Amino acid sequence: MRRGNRTELIWGLGLSDEFMKELEQALGPGYQMRNWPVNALPSRRDMDKTSPLTVWVPLSVWNALPPSSRRHLRDWELTQRVLILDGPHEGPDVEEILELGFLTALTPPVSTNKIRDAVFRAKEVRGLYDDIFSMTREIMLERELLARKTDQIIFLNTVLTRASQSLEPSIILANAREDLSLLFPVHGLQGAFWQPGDDGRLVGELFLAPCHDQQSRQTWIDYLLASSVKLAGGPVDGFTVENLNQALPEDCLTLPSPQTTVLLPLKVAGSAFGCLAISKDKDLRLGKDHVTSLTAAANHLALALRNAMLFREVKTKADHDGLTLIHNRQSFDDKIADELKRHQRYRQSLSLLLFDLDHFKSINDTLGHQAGDLVLKDIGAILEESCRETDFAARYGGEEFVVIMPQTNEDQAWVLAERLRRKIEHKNFQYADKQFQVTCSIGVATLTPGALSRKEELIRRADEALYLAKSNGRNMVCVSNVQDQKKVVGLVRQG
Ligand code: GH3
Ligand code: MG
Ligand code: MG
Repeated sequence: MRRGNRTELIWGLGLSDEFMKELEQALGPGYQMRNWPVNALPSRRDMDKTSPLTVWVPLSVWNALPPSSRRHLRDWELTQRVLILDGPHEGPDVEEILELGFLTALTPPVSTNKIRDAVFRAKEVRGLYDDIFSMTREIMLERELLARKTDQIIFLNTVLTRASQSLEPSIILANAREDLSLLFPVHGLQGAFWQPGDDGRLVGELFLAPCHDQQSRQTWIDYLLASSVKLAGGPVDGFTVENLNQALPEDCLTLPSPQTTVLLPLKVAGSAFGCLAISKDKDLRLGKDHVTSLTAAANHLALALRNAMLFREVKTKADHDGLTLIHNRQSFDDKIADELKRHQRYRQSLSLLLFDLDHFKSINDTLGHQAGDLVLKDIGAILEESCRETDFAARYGGEEFVVIMPQTNEDQAWVLAERLRRKIEHKNFQYADKQFQVTCSIGVATLTPGALSRKEELIRRADEALYLAKSNGRNMVCVSNVQDQKKVVGLVRQG
């Protein structure tokens, strides 16, 4: 290590004037000498203030020092001590000298060579100290850096592990909000995603944290849509909104602003499919480390969210009927099994509608298959708009449909079935330039609270009621009679 041409400080403790002169002559220019008289030796403060290259101490002075001063001198790391054995008696041996913390001990007369040699060694020792200090500093810096990197890896690992534990975008977002709070307090995390719809135009999906009022909710919707349009590079036509279940401390989700909102694009293979809007305190300035960690976390989250979106898309396709866009037979089977369990556990009524279009074959025969398809499509739409949130409509097969109605008794089910029958009866179907009507027959089966039944039995009863509606003239609702087990199906009502 180069130290330049600095003036080196040499101290004497109670040295004779002659010895000081010898030192000066031996060392030449570039050294600043200071001799402390025996009656005014340097205090601890004097020693703390500076670090001479060497301190020259006669044995007589050393012996006269109080133990605390000796200890202090001994622990003076950056300064090397040289002992002058000036006494009439034998001085300490080599081991003792080293033990006392001296670099060396010289017996008078001290030659120029010996002085230079001692100073040279002192410089070498100090050089070693300097090197050790700078290495220690470097090691400490490395450790600090390593600790920061470890923290970052732990953070990213947490984000990645939790993000890949769920295939539900809203859960991934809620977890991400918690995990990002390891970096800084996150007041809210919201997201927007977009993808091409069936007609190629972009459809948006917004995930909103709870807002204090309708106006701030609208402001967030506008902000997320504007961000989507900017990142997607084109207009987003139509969007859905899902509410995130984030518990927000009072007053913390402020409106979007450059000071409080961090917008993170979510990209896969270089193209953005979504973004996250993170709300933070306006006084919090994000450092370089924050930005690096946030970007890395966003990359992990992007992959997990993209997977979740794809999974949902595939699942929706697998659960839905391609023509009518309502649930298919497979998802009906799963749902009815779940609802039967719920019915048994909570002792609630459960109703099932099974309906079949009347003389549907004749539509195919007279107007063609495409006209028949169009009717089925329209029936799907009628079911979507007519069913309550808790109802579950599915295409059972061909021109037959089912509606599961949880917590619905027979009377209520009949009212809903009748409403549906009328809606279909009064619908004007249109194909090419032809207008026509379609009717349907509906069978209703209900399980009263506490009644035990298997899925097959419930469907069979609804089927028998439907058969009854058909055989009694069609375009009517029939209810299966559950009271009388022998007379399994009875014509209770008809439209
Ligand atoms: P009913 O009143 O007794 O129910 O008479 P129906 O003509 O409706 O009953 P049938 O079982 O004789 O005919 C059902 C027809 O539904 C036959 C079949 O070709 C047609 N169908 C089933 N699935 C589809 C479909 O996806 N598209 C079209 N266009 N027709 C279908
Ligand atoms: Mg049929
Ligand atoms: Mg039919």
